[in-house]
Parts: sequence; C-alpha cells; structure tokens
Amino acid sequence: MDNDKFFNVGYDGIDDELEQQKERKKKYQEGGGYGLRDFWMKIDEEDVLVRYLTEEPVVIDRHSFYVNGNWERPTCLGDEDCPYCKCPEEIVNKKRREGAHLLVDHREWETKEGNIYKDELKVGVWAASHIAGFRKDAKETEEGKLMREWKMTRTGTGPQTVYRLFPKKTEPVSEELKEAFKKVLSKFIPEWKQFKERRKLDKFPLERFAVAKTVAPLSEEEAQKLVDAYMASKGGGGGKKKDSGDKDTATKEQKQEPADLGDDEDYSF
Ligand SMILES: [Zn+2]
Repeated sequence: MDNDKFFNVGYDGIDDELEQQKERKKKYQEGGGYGLRDFWMKIDEEDVLVRYLTEEPVVIDRHSFYVNGNWERPTCLGDEDCPYCKCPEEIVNKKRREGAHLLVDHREWETKEGNIYKDELKVGVWAASHIAGFRKDAKETEEGKLMREWKMTRTGTGPQTVYRLFPKKTEPVSEELKEAFKKVLSKFIPEWKQFKERRKLDKFPLERFAVAKTVAPLSEEEAQKLVDAYMASKGGGGGKKKDSGDKDTATKEQKQEPADLGDDEDYSF
C-alpha cells in the first residue's frame, strides 16, 4: 500500500511505515517511550503556556471509538485495507481530518509515582477547524508565525470546544531545555536518517519526522486487534464514556534513552 498518503498533505512522505510499526509499538510497550506524549487540556483550562516547534501540521485522518475503558484514536490506514473503515458506522462516521504539531508544554505535573514533569515535548493533535483557528490567531500577531510562545485556552466541550492562542513575549529556549529536547528527539534519529537516505533528502526536519512517527497508523494486524476488542466489548456493558478531550495520557510513562546526539541535526530551536 502507499503509505506516503498519510504524510503528503503539507509534507513529503515517509516510506516503509508499516513495517516499522511493530518495532515502534514494542519499544513503546517496553517503556522505551518511542512516541511522544499527547498534549491535552482540560475543559475551561486557561493560560497554558506552550511553544510551537512546528509551523505546519502533519495532517492525518483519525477514527475514534471507545473500547475497554479508553478512547482509541487510531490513524486511518487510508485505503480499502483499513479495518476501521470497514466497521459499523459508529466508527466510520467518527473519522475526521486532524493536524498534529510538536509543542513544548510548560505546565508542571506529577505522576502517581511522584515523578514531576515540566517543559515537555508533546504532540498536539486537533481537528482541522482548531488547526485553522491556531493559524488565524498566529496571523494576527506581528510575526504572523505559529512557532513562538503562546498562552492557550480551551473552552467548551465536544463540537463547542474552542481553543484560542494569545501571544506571549517569546523568550529564547534556554541551552538546558535545548539539550533536553534534543535528548528526547534523539531516539528518532536512526530511523530519521534512514528515511532521509531512502528519499535522498538533504533536509527533512527531525521535528516533523518525530510528529509523523508519533501519529502514524498502526499496522493492519494491530488495527484489526483493536477492532476485534471493540466488537467484543459491544453489548458487554462497556464503560462510562468520558469526554475524549480529557483522555489522560499521563499514565503512559516515558523512559529516557541515552542521548546519541550527532552534530549534523537541524533543529528549529
Ligand atoms: Zn480508516
């Protein structure tokens, strides 16, 4: 199948995605934290300080459904092989176009185990309408760019959800933070290099690659498993549905891998 289509809107494609999925998932499950944590906000949360590290979103189509007590938001495989697309319409109807950005989340939060996180790199995924709103807010600033610091607010829920960005005096990223970000992104470097080599690309921002890898589709096999679990849970009572925007990804622990920093990487910060 043509995997490029997931990444073609706004970006060059990424090859051989599916065959790398198993490895990615395995690493994630083993605690390697291969993907980046999701960015999310509570309803009516105000003044969340964020910094955009990508100007354009990676565009995907995602399904969403509630299974085994969680909202699953798998990326559509985009062709006749997509098991979600073959599902009953309560799944298919929820497929929607979304955009993903790399952000720094400056909020501080604590895990159940007492680990404190702050200034984390995260991938924020929003519906196309929200992405368009962010762009509009950005255009109203002097720079006209999204890649800067903002205070973000969220009001409403479901279709009434509105996000707004308010410009903040943008401080340069400290050297300490730069090193921390590079360390996080460094785990994508081996595959990023292979990708550039295969495509004969001199430049393809590592940030974009990291976002695309994080939101990439599962393999068909993995997707089918998710669908099977959904089907098995139908009529079995299910759990109480919660607002999907409040999905707490904080339980997905990430373990830092040793940094393997080359000096040929082009970061945007
Ligand atoms: Zn699909």
